[in-house]
Parts: sequence; C-alpha cells; structure tokens
Amino acid sequence: MLKDAPSVNGLNKPFIPLESTWIEIDTDQFKKNLSIIKAHVKPRLYCLPIKANAYGHGLIPMAKLAMQCDIDYLAVSSLHEGIRLRQAEINCPILVLGAFQEDQIPDLIKYHLEFTISSLLKAQQVISYLESTQNKAYVHLEIETGMNRTGARPSTAKTIYDYLIQHPLIELKGIYSHLANSDQEDHPLNFKQQKLFENWIDQCPNKHLFHLANSSALVHQMSPLSTMVRPGLLSFGLYSKPLEGSLARIKPCFYLKSRVSYFKVVQKGDSIGYGSTYVAQKQTRIATIPIGYGDGYRRMLSNKARVLIRGQYFPVVGLICMDQLMVDIGDQEAYVGDEVVLVGEQGGKSITIQQLAEFCQTIPYEILTGFNERIARYYL
Ligand SMILES: *Cc1c(COP(=O)(O)O)cnc(C)c1O
Repeated sequence: MLKDAPSVNGLNKPFIPLESTWIEIDTDQFKKNLSIIKAHVKPRLYCLPIKANAYGHGLIPMAKLAMQCDIDYLAVSSLHEGIRLRQAEINCPILVLGAFQEDQIPDLIKYHLEFTISSLLKAQQVISYLESTQNKAYVHLEIETGMNRTGARPSTAKTIYDYLIQHPLIELKGIYSHLANSDQEDHPLNFKQQKLFENWIDQCPNKHLFHLANSSALVHQMSPLSTMVRPGLLSFGLYSKPLEGSLARIKPCFYLKSRVSYFKVVQKGDSIGYGSTYVAQKQTRIATIPIGYGDGYRRMLSNKARVLIRGQYFPVVGLICMDQLMVDIGDQEAYVGDEVVLVGEQGGKSITIQQLAEFCQTIPYEILTGFNERIARYYL
C-alpha cells in the first residue's frame, strides 16, 4: 500500500497530483524488495541494474533509494546514464555494462565509472589513454559463454586478462558473463555457460568480483560460486512466476494512474475512435482517459486491456490514440476527475505489467521501459 493511501480500497486516496496521468512509485515497497534480496544473496554483493530509466521507474530517484539501502553497486548500460547518476551525486561504484566507444574513455574515467572491457583492441585503447594521462581505471572483463552479445571469446579473454592484470594503471575489479536462457531453468545452454564461467572462478585469484546471475538466474540459484549478483527486474518487484520463501514478499512498486477527462453516452451502432474498430451493441457510456501510445501505453492494448475505475474493471475500446483512450463503462457511473488505475490496484482488484505484456506478446521489461518522460513520476 502506498503511504498516503487509505487502507480500505484506495478509492478515496488523498493523493491526486495536478497532472492528468501519472506514475506512483511505492518507495517503501521498493526498499523492502531491495532489503529482501540483499539478505537473500548475502554475503555476495548486490549490483542493482538501473538502466533504461531504472526500468521505467525513474533513474535518479531510484538510485537515491538504492543508496539508502546500501546497495553495493549500480549497473547502467551507457556512459551517459552513468554521468547522470554522478551529476546527481550518486557516489557508489557504478558499472557500465554496454560496450563503449573509444572517444568515451576520457569521460568514463573522469566520472569514476567502472566499465566493461571485452576485446583486446578496447583494452589497448584504454591503456594508451591511461599512459598518456597517468589516470587509473577500474574495469570488468566480460567473457563470452554463450550469449554472443559483447563478451570476449575464451581464447582472447585469457590474453586480455593477462594484459590487464599486469598493468599498474588498471584495476581489474570483476569478471562477468551473462546468461541467455536463465528464465528457462533446464535449458542446456545454462549448464554450458555456468561451467565455462566457473572455470574462470577456479582459475583466477579471488581478489576479483565474479558475477553472472540476473533475476531469473538468482531465483533458480544458478552460479552459487559467484561473489556478486545483478538482479534487475526482481528488484523492481516483477517476476514471471510466483516467488517462494523469503522472496515471496517481493512486490511491484509501480502504479500507473490517470483521471477520467471526458464522458459521453453513445447509441447502439455508434463506433468508437479511429478505424471504428469497436461498435456499441447497445446504448452505453464511454469514458475518455488522457493516456495513449505517445506515453508508452501501447497501441497493441487496444480492445484488449482493462482499467479500474471505482473499483471495477472496464474494457479499453476502440484503437488507442496517441494521447487518449476510451473505455466502455456500460451502465455504470463514472465522473470526470475519477481516478483510473491502468497498472496497480484499486478496490482489491489489480492490473499487472505482466498482463499488459501478454496482451502485447512481449516481456514486462519492454512494457515498463516504454513509459516515457511525458508521464510525471511521484515517489510516495
Ligand atoms: C539488464 C541486465 C541484467 C539484469 O537483468 P534482469 O533480467 O532484469 O535481472 C543483468 N546483467 C546484464 C548484463 C544486463 O544487461
């Protein structure tokens, strides 16, 4: 429950911002998720992936909350996400996961970002910059085990490793890899990837951090020998299956809300919206909600998704527009200004990101990261 919400059903919530459509982040629940995961993975370090605007939750506020929970590391995908965190005075270790460009090396170092090396050429570029400036760099070596995205192949990885560890201006903080199928517990590639990675753990001194597990690998207890984990989606309270044990108390902290902006009665045979894809079968009431695909509420949800108004589900009818959508409230009552829940809970009923993802035939990650900066975010 959100702090400001009455405990009964959320219908008379005092919190209504000036915006017509907004996201609420339940900061208590987010912090709870982090502390549950932190206790679960101990003594391993906890690296929180906070890329793509913290999975749509808002980069800087979520990073600040993570700092309150003593998260060991943040991970971002690019230099520019890292710079934004540093400019907001986030001072913890930050790992840039994605491959960098040569002209980004000075800023990676200037902003004290740890970054990923996965080719000999990149290693040489970094070292030549360090030698010309006498700066030091803190890096992670990404090894290829089966994802075939950005890791160094085993044969080159060894050469890069030897090259990095002997250099006085480089500190090799970590060695990592990424699983391609950790969501499918018994996928054969998991075993191959884990074995290749564990060979590295066996052969290297334990002064480095070893990290492999994302959310589903953590839940499936893969890679027990690693010394750091990188669960993203799980930290934001989402997972594809019901969670067990101590992890069962992890919950989403993301609410998408709006307010009815218009109301009309339509007659039998009237069509709704672009393309007339929905035709009223009888006289009915249509409420207009000011959110559309231009905010990240996907057009694929047209004539599929539901919303909650006054504690009841109502279907989204007609094609979703750029800025608005319509719902059929039948013979029920709704007034301009009524709160609409598009993701989250109201009156004991709920709508999840996973349900929206299924309607769009995609994964929760894509739905969450699609909600853009046009929607105001409130941290309650
Ligand atoms: C995004 C990402 C993660 C987090 O994945 P989740 O499935 O959200 O837990 C971990 N590691 C790497 C390299 C990533 O790119």
